[in-house]
Amino acid sequence: MMADDASTQAIGGGARVSVLLPLPLAGPYDYLVPEEMTLQRGEFVIVPLGPRELLGVVWGKGTDDVAEARLKPVVEHLEDAPSLPEAVLRFVDWVAAYTLSPPGAVLRMAMSVPSALVPPRLATGYRFSRMPEPGERVTAQRKRVIELLAEGVAWLPPDLAREAGVGAGVLKAMEKDGIIEKVELPPGPPFEMPDVDRPGRTLSTDQAAASTEMCQRLAEDAFSVTLLDGVTGSGKTEVYFEAVAECLRRDRQALVLLPEIALSAEWLGRFESRFGVKPAVWHSDLTQAERRITWRAIAEGKAPVVVGARSALFLPYPDLGLIVVDEEHDPAFKQEDGVHYHARDMAVVRAQLGRFPIVLSSATPSLESHVNETTGRYRRLHLPDRHAGAQLPDIRTIDLRRDKPPSQHFLSPPLVQALHETLAAGEQSLLFLNRRGYAPLTLCRACGTRLACPNCSTWLVEHRLAGRLQCHHCGHSSRRPPACSSCGADDAFAACGPGVERLAEELLTVLPEARFTVMTSDTIGGPAQAAELVRSIRDGEVDVVIGTQMVAKGHNFPKLTLVGVVDADLGLEGGDLRAAERTYQLLHQVAGRAGRHERPGRVLLQTWQPESRVMAALASGDRDRFLAVEAAEREAAGMPPYGRLVGLVISSHDPQVVDAVARALGKSAPTGEGIQVLGPAPAPLALLRGRHRRRLLLKADRAVRVQPIVVDWLARVKVPGTARVQIDIDPYSFL
Ligand code: ADP
Ligand code: ZN
Repeated sequence: MMADDASTQAIGGGARVSVLLPLPLAGPYDYLVPEEMTLQRGEFVIVPLGPRELLGVVWGKGTDDVAEARLKPVVEHLEDAPSLPEAVLRFVDWVAAYTLSPPGAVLRMAMSVPSALVPPRLATGYRFSRMPEPGERVTAQRKRVIELLAEGVAWLPPDLAREAGVGAGVLKAMEKDGIIEKVELPPGPPFEMPDVDRPGRTLSTDQAAASTEMCQRLAEDAFSVTLLDGVTGSGKTEVYFEAVAECLRRDRQALVLLPEIALSAEWLGRFESRFGVKPAVWHSDLTQAERRITWRAIAEGKAPVVVGARSALFLPYPDLGLIVVDEEHDPAFKQEDGVHYHARDMAVVRAQLGRFPIVLSSATPSLESHVNETTGRYRRLHLPDRHAGAQLPDIRTIDLRRDKPPSQHFLSPPLVQALHETLAAGEQSLLFLNRRGYAPLTLCRACGTRLACPNCSTWLVEHRLAGRLQCHHCGHSSRRPPACSSCGADDAFAACGPGVERLAEELLTVLPEARFTVMTSDTIGGPAQAAELVRSIRDGEVDVVIGTQMVAKGHNFPKLTLVGVVDADLGLEGGDLRAAERTYQLLHQVAGRAGRHERPGRVLLQTWQPESRVMAALASGDRDRFLAVEAAEREAAGMPPYGRLVGLVISSHDPQVVDAVARALGKSAPTGEGIQVLGPAPAPLALLRGRHRRRLLLKADRAVRVQPIVVDWLARVKVPGTARVQIDIDPYSFL
């Protein structure tokens, strides 16, 4: 498709070849192709590196940089491994150049399952070999086996034994006599072809119009970005399923990226009811065997639809024809360790490289996508109404200055009353609080000392059910000490502020007759447990769900009619660039859980600042005005998406080293038109996992290409081995 001369040329014996290794090195290394070997770009090889032999990918022809005598030969060509498609190779280079990451670090994401390169073991079956000779004894058992195999198809031994009603010994004896023989069977396709024409739902007029438009984009067979903007419950999923179907009709692979795939049993169920089969899934909870099968099926073009978390973007699709990014505004698409990348943005790049359409779906589009849509770079499809006439919930604020909860309580009288009413009506409530554990802070009543993490600049969070104090950044965990280490006071610790566990305790006192459940990453061990919990809520076995952002996403609970947001201001603390935008998105999404079916829903937001822009916008439902004001503020400040940011985090176990490097970077900071450097300053998390941290922020006009500027900048400063400088292009976290 995008093959040009460089990508299809064979690199023959005696030539130099450049091989990229999945390691954080500066770039590919040159090797010599042995006489009898011919290689092509994208193929897997084994090459020596120092004393080791490593798996790498042919990146192209070699250079003349290394003297011939010092070149080492390629050890092995993995001829049975599927090679990496050209679009994937270009994608690796593109992401590396954009994020300023070593190409090998990006390649590692594309070849995360080396064991998938070995062809899968063939299963052994039996097939018919010869008819019994005259006079040869044929028992009834043997006769049944012969009859089954006479049709010409080979059988797996256990299936054959079961069907013929014989033991394994009979089969072995027949094999020994030469009547049947063993044969290697190719494994069946791991993923079945979805049935695109399965009679499904009838789309509403709006849905049908959106679906037709999307199918037109696919027919154009070109790159395009479509923003599918529809209120929660408007049927965006149903609509993009039609785009997936159209992509499959065109015989190409489709990828759906979801923020938290592990928990979306519901999504998978809907896919299955639309297409009759399961898609290939890709997320961190897969077993090694599942990864191997899935990676190879994708590389061989045998996985028609893949649904996955952000890392699924780097899989080796030979013929990708569509990407859908669902909940495109979700912060989980930003990876903040290793290669720092935003999967939504990189998905757009992947679509551009592969020349196919991409769909970004959300009820609360990111400001980035909103601006791209208003400037005409993205097309917008709008679904303004909930499906089947379901009403959007009524959203109101509760002013905590007037309606104060009693001391040491967190539920205000109006919210408690609403909980009572909902329970009396036989409906369900959700109490949303984005705080795991019992209390976010524990302090000594005698001297005021706060219990902090020894490795990080954060307070320890009490998890009362587990009987531990935990750091949510580094995982440090300890028991509550019997006495204060500062003043020696015995048993003087007090829990400050609420977490979900503490809310559960309060609920017991204000609504003792209610059946409730707590839904957080601490109470849910895995996808199966999550699915069971979701089922019990759907089946009405629970009256009140207390949950963190885990419940905000995707779930459809028919009887849920009240959402109480316990601390609507929580996300606004900290002065993050996107604090208002994110709070709006998250609370809007939580609110969208209420009244998705016949019964109307209501949402109560407990806030200290009901007049703030975010709360007012949520209560009035005027999203577009909120986005317009937010956009105007960002534009005035030259902030993304109108300006560019690059975050630099310097870290070291040694506070002096970290300060020295930070100062040196500050002194040699780039200057020029449209460039500004802020810092160095201690990071808000000035200590993280035992490393001291300082930050610098480069702010530039949109027209400025920041990557070469940052490369030059870093080249001017010598960073000792005891310090690390982490570059984050388009940062989302400022901690
Ligand atoms: P969104 O993704 O926009 O929040 P969904 O696709 O989840 O919306 O749809 C909300 C609910 O409405 C789901 O239960 C879905 O099955 C149902 N629904 C949406 N469109 C249709 C349709 N055309 N026919 C039947 N049910 C639909
Ligand atoms: Zn810690």
